[in-house]
Amino acid sequence: MNKLIHALILMVIAGTAGAAEREQSVCYGTTAKGRLEKAWQLPGSGNNFTVYSRAGVAAGRNYVHSSVYAVVLDAYQSLQQNFPDKRYVYGETGRERGGLFRPHKTHQNGLSVDFFVPVVDQGGRSVPLPITPLNKLGYDIEFSKDGRFQQYKIDFEAMAAHLLALKKAADLNGVKIWRVIFDNDLQALLFRTSQGKELRAQLLFSKKKPWVRHDEHYHVDFIVPCKE
Ligand SMILES: [Zn+2]
Repeated sequence: MNKLIHALILMVIAGTAGAAEREQSVCYGTTAKGRLEKAWQLPGSGNNFTVYSRAGVAAGRNYVHSSVYAVVLDAYQSLQQNFPDKRYVYGETGRERGGLFRPHKTHQNGLSVDFFVPVVDQGGRSVPLPITPLNKLGYDIEFSKDGRFQQYKIDFEAMAAHLLALKKAADLNGVKIWRVIFDNDLQALLFRTSQGKELRAQLLFSKKKPWVRHDEHYHVDFIVPCKE
């Protein structure tokens, strides 16, 4: 065999083995008081999704537990197959070692993920939310009670599809979803979608008003066994 090809094949085999051996994360404590070891950083983008901010990536604010990593990416992959035109944006997740993650109250052990609401523009096209430092990287965007912001409308069908894709991916990866925190008024609109009934049956949604209005993003807490 040509020496170069042989060397390349060996490199590919070594690379694959390396990926398979990638160490799983270890979480400690709770989402509100915890930490994380061997965290995995989510990719900045994929075919149908992007991170909220490149600066957030550079600052290391998109680390998660390896099991959550698998769930988040598997869900995006299934959405890509079933709803190829929909665009998604995820928000802050946590630091590489977990712990205090200002201004969030949780996100401490790699099991919390913020997702920005999918939106459509005036033409009904699925587009990423316009996130800039001026709107505090998306978190200062305020949606009306009927889910509108400037020329954008929340795409509740796309959001329902995402949440159900997360649930399915979580089941396949042996992960549980503890809860989804989302604005109460907007929840009512989410439940009116074609999959609303299914959503309510499969996932637990926040009932009380959250400490900050979760209108521009929905916060998802996952359950993975953690050490004390
Ligand atoms: Zn959050």
